[in-house]
Amino acid sequence: MTLSDLLEQATTTSSDCVFCDFSTADVGDKDSRGAVKVFQTGSSFGQDWYGILQTGVMSDPMSGFRLLLVPLGHIQSFAEIAKDRRLAENYGIATAQLSLAMQRIREEEYAGTDTFTPGQIVYGKCHTPVNSQSHLHLKLDEFSGGLAQAFPPDAGWIKKQTGQSEGSMGELYVRARPVTTVELELERITSLADRLIDYAKRSI
Ligand SMILES: [Zn+2]
Repeated sequence: MTLSDLLEQATTTSSDCVFCDFSTADVGDKDSRGAVKVFQTGSSFGQDWYGILQTGVMSDPMSGFRLLLVPLGHIQSFAEIAKDRRLAENYGIATAQLSLAMQRIREEEYAGTDTFTPGQIVYGKCHTPVNSQSHLHLKLDEFSGGLAQAFPPDAGWIKKQTGQSEGSMGELYVRARPVTTVELELERITSLADRLIDYAKRSI
C-alpha cells in the first residue's frame, strides 16, 4: 500500500482493537481495566478524538496520572491526521483541553516549595513493526518520578553515564533509572476522573 492509498482510505473501526471498542463508550464510562473516558470532541469516526484516564502511572504516583488521547476511528499513523481538516483541528483542541485540565489538577494539588510549573510530557505511538497497538494514541504525563530523566530525542545519550555488559565483547549501554508502572487507588481514579470530565469541557 502506498501513502496515497492510505490517505484516500475512508476511516473505519477495527473489530479486534481495544481503542476502537471504547470509541462508542460515553464520557464517564470505564473500560475492562477500569480506565475512564473523560473527554470527547464529537462522535464522527473520521473527525473526532477522545481522552482516557489510565489506571496506571509511570511518573510519581503521589502526584502523577496519565491521560491517553485517541482518535475515534482506527487511524494508524500521524500522517493520516492530514486526511481531514476537522480531524486535524480536533487533534489540537483535544490536546489543549486535556493538557489544561491536567495542569489545573496538578496546580490544585501542588504542595512543593518552589513555584508551580505546568510541566508535561507528550509521547505518541502509532503502527510500527514492533508496536503491539497499531491504533494511534498519545500519552500525556507529568515530568516526575521515573519519567524525569532524559530520552534520546533530547540529546545524544552517549554523554550520560555508561556501563558495559560483562565479557570481553561487552556491549556499551546507557545507565538509566528503572521505570515502573504503579496502579492508582480506586478513590484516586474516581476523584481525578470527576475533575477531568469537568475541567476538560472548559476553555480558559
Ligand atoms: Zn482501533
